[in-house]
Amino acid sequence: MDCIFCKIIKKEIPASILYEDEKILIFNDLNPEAPKHFLVIPKEHIASVNELNACNSDVISHIFTKINEVSQNIKELENGYRIVTNCGENASQTVKHLHFHVLGGRKLSWPPG
Ligand code: 5GP
Ligand code: ZN
Repeated sequence: MDCIFCKIIKKEIPASILYEDEKILIFNDLNPEAPKHFLVIPKEHIASVNELNACNSDVISHIFTKINEVSQNIKELENGYRIVTNCGENASQTVKHLHFHVLGGRKLSWPPG
């Protein structure tokens, strides 16, 4: 399967990795939209939130627990951060492997565009 995030998981493409375990990978976004911008992905290829179900969604609680742990160790995130997942065309999802953006280190406007 031609998935760039699966290639990052397999170390076929380099990435700046912040955290890794058997279920998930956390790495810096290549084109950061904020002083801190990293991505959290399940190692299982799930295309988007639309593909989550009772059999594969346990990883989501793990992802949020690790976002909390990793964020606590990043000083720039102590005043807050945003977690975003784009799902489908209208949300401008470009990589079809489920990922959560974590953005912080500056004041973030709301609502998003
Ligand atoms: P999406 O638009 O699908 O929600 O976000 C995809 C994100 O993946 C973008 O923020 C983009 O900068 C990031 N990205 C795309 N290709 C690569 C890559 O090869 N390495 C890294 N580290 N990030 C990537
Ligand atoms: Zn993938």
